[in-house]
Amino acid sequence: MEQKNVRTRFAPSPTGFMHIGNLRTALYTYIIAKKYGGKFILRIEDTDRERYVDGAIDVIYDTLRACGLNWDEGPDIGGPVGPYIQSERMGIFKQYAEELVKMGKAYYCFCTKERMDKLHEEQRAKGLTNAYDRHCRNLSPDEVKRLLDAGTPYVIRQKVPLDGTTTFHDELYGDITVPNADLDDQILLKADGMPTYNFANVVDDHLMGITHVVRGNEYLSSAPKYNLLYEAFGWDVPCYIHVEHIMRDAAHKLSKRDGDAYFGDFVEAGYYIPAILNYIALLGWAPKGENEIFTLEQLTEEFDIHGLSKSPAIFDPVKMKAINAEWLRNLPHEKFKEAALPYIRKTCRSESVNLDALVKVLQPRAELLTDIPERVDFIDELREYSTDLYFNKKMKTTPETSLEALKAALAVFEGISEADWTPENVHDTLTAEAERLGVKAGWLLLPIRAALSGKLSTPGGGVELAVILGREETIARVKKGIEKLS
Ligand code: GLU
Repeated sequence: MEQKNVRTRFAPSPTGFMHIGNLRTALYTYIIAKKYGGKFILRIEDTDRERYVDGAIDVIYDTLRACGLNWDEGPDIGGPVGPYIQSERMGIFKQYAEELVKMGKAYYCFCTKERMDKLHEEQRAKGLTNAYDRHCRNLSPDEVKRLLDAGTPYVIRQKVPLDGTTTFHDELYGDITVPNADLDDQILLKADGMPTYNFANVVDDHLMGITHVVRGNEYLSSAPKYNLLYEAFGWDVPCYIHVEHIMRDAAHKLSKRDGDAYFGDFVEAGYYIPAILNYIALLGWAPKGENEIFTLEQLTEEFDIHGLSKSPAIFDPVKMKAINAEWLRNLPHEKFKEAALPYIRKTCRSESVNLDALVKVLQPRAELLTDIPERVDFIDELREYSTDLYFNKKMKTTPETSLEALKAALAVFEGISEADWTPENVHDTLTAEAERLGVKAGWLLLPIRAALSGKLSTPGGGVELAVILGREETIARVKKGIEKLS
């Protein structure tokens, strides 16, 4: 593979939210540029005005930035080969389309919408796929001039050779040869003067010096037509890498209807952004070794185009969650705290809570960030709970033994000063008390946990909860427990 002056581009159409298939393309594109010391270019392909969605460009910017896929050239930061928004490049496409007409590789087509609709209807009735019947391909130059002078609306179509074959090369699929007879005289320039995607991407990839094109393999069948355009202009063809679809199962593509097919949905569902990137990198690419956990930098190191798969990737929510959990568990304390804090604050606004202690107990069992609010919802306020919480078969605790335990705990807690309220002190004094009473630590700790949380499942046990809540609140809740059990 050519690796000099690498320039790759991510060329999204602003048609809505960022599907993870698109984000995966952006990721591979970015990685290839960075791996070879090249440039990653962002180009907005907004020539299909019917599919244009307001605000979608911002979604593209925000998503790429949030993922750390920073572009070297693009609409907002400019660059040597701008503008980077296709709708601002209209004159360029018109000029190149007309040049192709002059070279005899394209032609004006004046067919009306009515004629095309009728043609397509007839084709459908015969069970044929819709294709242009080349009605205008052989109009005489005089006829073309007359129609143009009269201001007749037109499109410009590619003049595909009627026989022979066209071969193009894909880095994964190798050489692909198709009979020209199978290729349509596709539209290059539309009646509104806008180029079609199929034309604009060729012109812009050339003018922007793009060396590698990564895209979904829905474009594979159009690639021969691009090659004919490159050939007509005498331009170098970039290295193509067509990647497979992401599937829900063997038969269905992953779509919005399955829920969670969009980047923003995963963030909302509590996935950590680097973990999302990590997982989608694995959808269609296999690392050489066993390890599957990678930062963006590590992905860039490890990535190899030949590790890309030629079969569709099946999206596996269970695996994605496992990767997210592993990411969260492995984060440095401060990083995890930063990620967890907004979720903690959804249900826990208390100023006196010991955040570091809380984060420490949350991290080892974190799977999704969105699990956090429910896990910490007992901190601000102790809700009514049933005394059933005080039964524990294993520790042989009952509401009666728990009353005794809480009384002992209260004396212990009152004996620890505010300044000495550390995890070690709380732990050691409680353990000593259990020893003195000749009971198992759990006999003492389980009732404390119940009294402090009012919940069956808590992040951390009695000691951790006491430290998280602080001395004053701990004592108040133990007293409440005693009252309840008395
Ligand atoms: N605008 C096209 C899309 O969003 C880009 C395809 C390509 O990368 O060439 O699908």
